[in-house]
Amino acid sequence: MSRSKSVLTQLLQIFPQWRPQMYFKASLTALSHAMEDQVLAGSEEPLVIASFQRERFYRQEAQRYRRIAQKSNQVYVLAAPETDFKNRSDDYETIAFDNEDTLTQEWHLIVLGDTYSSCLICQEKITAQSQTMTAVIDNNRRFEGIWTFDRRVTEQAAHILFKTILDYRPELEEKIQNACTQYRLSDLFKEEPPQQKDIDNTTWDVTNNNPDPFVQRLVTYLQAGQYKLIKANRSLAAKEHKERLINSVTTAIRLSLDPDEIMQIAVQKLGEGLGVCRCLVYRCKETDPTATIEHEFLNQGIPSIKGQTWPLRHNPLFQEVVELRDALTIDNASSDPRIINGANPSEQSLQTLVSRCSILSWMLVPICYRGRLLGMLELHHCGPKPVTWKEEDVALVNAIATQIGVALIQAEAYANLQDLNEQLEALDRTRSNLVAITGHELRTPLSTIQVCLESLASEPDMSPELRQVMLNTALQDAERMRKLVQDFLTLSQLESGRVEWNIEALNLHECIELSLSNVRARHKDTPLPNIENLVKEELPLVKADGEWLVEVLAKLLDNACKFTSEEGKITIEVSSHSRNHIEVTVADTGRGIEPKRLETVFDRFYQEEGALRRSTGGTGLGLAICRQIVRGWGGKIWAESQGKDHGSQFHFTVPIYPDQMPIQRSNQTMTRSSRGKPKAKGKRKK
Ligand code: ADP
Repeated sequence: MSRSKSVLTQLLQIFPQWRPQMYFKASLTALSHAMEDQVLAGSEEPLVIASFQRERFYRQEAQRYRRIAQKSNQVYVLAAPETDFKNRSDDYETIAFDNEDTLTQEWHLIVLGDTYSSCLICQEKITAQSQTMTAVIDNNRRFEGIWTFDRRVTEQAAHILFKTILDYRPELEEKIQNACTQYRLSDLFKEEPPQQKDIDNTTWDVTNNNPDPFVQRLVTYLQAGQYKLIKANRSLAAKEHKERLINSVTTAIRLSLDPDEIMQIAVQKLGEGLGVCRCLVYRCKETDPTATIEHEFLNQGIPSIKGQTWPLRHNPLFQEVVELRDALTIDNASSDPRIINGANPSEQSLQTLVSRCSILSWMLVPICYRGRLLGMLELHHCGPKPVTWKEEDVALVNAIATQIGVALIQAEAYANLQDLNEQLEALDRTRSNLVAITGHELRTPLSTIQVCLESLASEPDMSPELRQVMLNTALQDAERMRKLVQDFLTLSQLESGRVEWNIEALNLHECIELSLSNVRARHKDTPLPNIENLVKEELPLVKADGEWLVEVLAKLLDNACKFTSEEGKITIEVSSHSRNHIEVTVADTGRGIEPKRLETVFDRFYQEEGALRRSTGGTGLGLAICRQIVRGWGGKIWAESQGKDHGSQFHFTVPIYPDQMPIQRSNQTMTRSSRGKPKAKGKRKK
């Protein structure tokens, strides 16, 4: 509940011709300061009444009022208390008005001297917006009211405020009476306030004022205000530029999920935005010895370092950034002790780097994501003069480095997702194939087995010969189904990456002999073509999983036997075209493969016959399994043929064991005697 009526309203009732004017808080501050300065600079002892909306506004000016109080003993300050503002008579009179008083919405300053007078009587325009305003835009708060040098208006305003002061502090009556006498105010306590009719025809008394010094001061304040505004604008513009740059880099890099593109865009935009001579970005880990510069922004005339190797392990600056996980700046590389001292080889190489790349001012900012180092951003100034990196520059580059980190992680996640999708697609294909096999390949032998067994069960009088034929047919088809299921499971296991590779040093000759004996055992009842192992025993050891290597050889030999007549010939030989691997060839003089099918034969379920039942048997999965195995040790497999009836050659590569001396393996020790001996497939426990 308000205790007093609005001073502005009361004044306007007395002077209805006056139209209130709109003032921003900043203008009121300037006007008040100018009025107060007039008191401080003058030699009079004026009456000063100041009413602040809140104690906190008064506190900003308290020092001023103590100085004003040294000029005059008629100083009254009103405010709504917040902490320790109380009714007091110390240096000057303080009047603490109620928090509900209308004065909390008003701003008044009255200065009444012998030769000058001025008053500022305003009321805040409270809008929904102004209530939520923050301190930053406090200066935009709006008021409306009167500011004048007119003595009569000033007197009436003093009159109204004195009445309010007496309401709160009646004990000041005598002091206020004295003020009325001293400043020739009408006797407030005897006379009614003048009515409109009394003052309508009066001429405004402004002649006794000399507003010049006042105006001078006001201009000074306005100038100062303007200067502050320009400064604020400048810092706003810089902030805006920074935000725009971060936004444009962020927007641009978010459009891409390709790490190379992300880094190129980032380096370009950042380099342009900051106007540096050179900007670099590269991927790296803490432990990398070097990085290759692939993404660079250059200003005109600056030498490129694209494609060059950038030192990391022996670069003390890189190591410092990695350790601190924070940006590092060097204003002048030619005087920085980390560079010029050159006490150790790392520092000397840094010196060489600085002079080779003409780096004068340097900034390194790490690109991290959740503490993981993903790369580095570097800014170089190449002269002629060094630059001083500002805190806001570092903050800006840091913000962009964070964005690059996020974009790189997104790109990584996308690539992983794509991988996962491919794996899922492969699994889906496998599943579809399983359905197809069950439909076509398994159903046929199953039907045969069923027919045979039904006949055996339902015809007890069947001749023993026919009974034997029935049983043999059922057994053959059961075996065919078993092979198909086994091959399918093997391929699924290889394709899903669930294979534990047991890589070891192997003697190739022995592997071939083992696979040959497997093949011969399998075909013991059928005549085979002539098979020749041309591989010498004293070859270097190869590096592969023995069981799977024997499996590949056996499958290729099996095929060669299947597709070559007994008059034909099969040879196994090796050649070496590189120091790193050996090429193994299984060649036959059999039916050959059409050139356009040389790649397709490795597809799952490819069979030239395309028939459900073939004279040659087989599942159509053998070569697909071989390809997966060979890829497992990082090799290649391919087929060659001059075409139908011109024989085929199947080649695959296997790495040479790098260290041909006895070696320690992680879970077992390999001795010379056991070394190189392959194990037959099927003994492995998984
Ligand atoms: P399959 O179990 O049918 O042999 P593979 O995947 O091992 O399955 O072979 C796929 C197909 O490739 C065979 O059906 C055959 O048509 C062709 N093929 C494989 N090896 C030879 C070879 N040595 N000569 C001619 N054709 C071959």
